[in-house]
Amino acid sequence: SPLIELIGIAHDYPNPAGAGRRRVLDGIDLRLGPGERLGIMGPSGAGKSTLARILIGLEPPSQGRLCFAGHELDPRRRPDRARLREAVQMVWQDPALYLNPRLSVEQQIEEALALRRPRLSRPDRRVATAALLAQVGLPPDLLPRRPHEISGGQAQRVAISRALARAPRLLVCDEILANLDLPAQLAILDLLAQLHAETGLALILIGHDIRPIARLCQRVIWLDQGRILTTAPESNAIRTA
Ligand code: ADP
Ligand code: ADP
Repeated sequence: SPLIELIGIAHDYPNPAGAGRRRVLDGIDLRLGPGERLGIMGPSGAGKSTLARILIGLEPPSQGRLCFAGHELDPRRRPDRARLREAVQMVWQDPALYLNPRLSVEQQIEEALALRRPRLSRPDRRVATAALLAQVGLPPDLLPRRPHEISGGQAQRVAISRALARAPRLLVCDEILANLDLPAQLAILDLLAQLHAETGLALILIGHDIRPIARLCQRVIWLDQGRILTTAPESNAIRTA
């Protein structure tokens, strides 16, 4: 059965101009298999980030159903959100905005590890922290540094290691390459491919550039004005089956 399935999802936001609501997602049906690598593309404002927040349970959809591993979950209910959150992690474009500026790299990772159930002992957390840092290809001398003392590419790796600390089955990456230069982008893509190969982690890569998505993903969907396009835009020569 699919890892995650969205059925008939629609989403409205309050209209900033005043009365009423504006539909930003409509008729979204999407299945993601365990270990699948899916790209989500589309112009700015298409609804990609909203779709990502719905997938991770952060934004309860206005309509439709969300199933995880064969069970329907209601993201308005805290236990259901917690269940999704254990299995699905997300990283964003700018880790500087959500890494804690006052915590060292080591403390950031330990904080995420402290949420694991069953609980890890303190010594086990230390070992796991070092292992997670190595898993994302960072040297141990980064452990005492704070986010402003590392590069953007390194901060993105720390954010990924924090996400991995929760042992997710799906990692949603929302525009995570946007602020990186090309070598750093390629290195992050290699890292994601390696994590997928090692752990069977499912990946969703959201972006507006076809090249990184074509490199990493097996399948791509296009969003436009809140709907999934059934045929790919002709300019993008990639399989969409
Ligand atoms: P994308 O990620 O493809 O750029 P988004 O999901 O961020 O698209 O946005 C889809 C639409 O919803 C846009 O028109 C955006 O302005 C609007 N939107 C996004 N977040 C909110 C919000 N919290 N409140 C109101 N409107 C929003
Ligand atoms: P809780 O219900 O545990 O208080 P929330 O759902 O209110 O958690 O989310 C708190 C913050 O945690 C959010 O603003 C978001 O930035 C982050 N967050 C929530 N779910 C995830 C997730 N699956 N992956 C990464 N960050 C998340």
